[in-house]
Amino acid sequence: MRDFSNDLSSLALNTATLGHNLDGYGAGWSTEQVIDACAERGFGGIVFWRRELANNAISIGERVRASGMQVVGLCRAPFLVGPLVDAGGARAVHDELLRAIDLAAALQAPVLTIVAGGVEPGSKGIVESLSVLADRVAAAVPHATDCKVKLALEPLHPVYAGDRSCLVTLRDALDICDRIDSTQVGVAIDVYHVWWDTTLQAQLERAGSSRILGYHLCDWLANTSDILLDRGMMGDGVAHLVNLRQWVEDAGYSGFCEIEIFSANNWWQRSPNEVLDQCVERFKSVC
Ligand code: ZN
Repeated sequence: MRDFSNDLSSLALNTATLGHNLDGYGAGWSTEQVIDACAERGFGGIVFWRRELANNAISIGERVRASGMQVVGLCRAPFLVGPLVDAGGARAVHDELLRAIDLAAALQAPVLTIVAGGVEPGSKGIVESLSVLADRVAAAVPHATDCKVKLALEPLHPVYAGDRSCLVTLRDALDICDRIDSTQVGVAIDVYHVWWDTTLQAQLERAGSSRILGYHLCDWLANTSDILLDRGMMGDGVAHLVNLRQWVEDAGYSGFCEIEIFSANNWWQRSPNEVLDQCVERFKSVC
């Protein structure tokens, strides 16, 4: 297992950790400020959200690399199934997914994260929705291959199954990978969503190094007050972070550890400098 006590080269910031993903939160730092603050602290990489990039993806990617970091990924594809899919149906979903892939390519991000979306309107249970999801991901694989962007299916905690993600276990994510059978498609492992899963270690072994495309850090607060916007800083909750990383690395993963904390009433209320300092401290000591 890698020793991070004095090595930040594998540490990445998901910019949502500074509150940038919802209007009205965060300190309003520009993307450039975020890049510079991460670089100053020795972060190895950074992950952006589509809304931050506008028409600046190429120059933002260049600024990250010039500062000595890597663009680790792009958050995220549009919802592909379920009630939160934008109007326009399957065709519009497909087109928007391709545009997200294009944006990742412009940024030179190697991975685009896919949050599935929930249960298809008019259907019950998750099986049918998972099948539609698999078809829609598969349809984007040729374009993703051309763009050299890998697609990372991120299972979310089951509490989101209805609206945000019918994909709730690593098992089902890997079943979709098997079905699509492309080296372009893999999974993202997020502590927040999988910490409770007693089958996780076996499924990580099944995934192997080639399919684990990302590892996301935060913590699950035992007394969480909001399932979307009350994620914990690493060490403040009940996830066994050391075990989880051990399993991910035992499976062959040696990539970035991306801190991704949505915390409307705590961390997003603090100065970004304080949040970044805490990220570094906790990464060194408890992850
Ligand atoms: Zn995540």
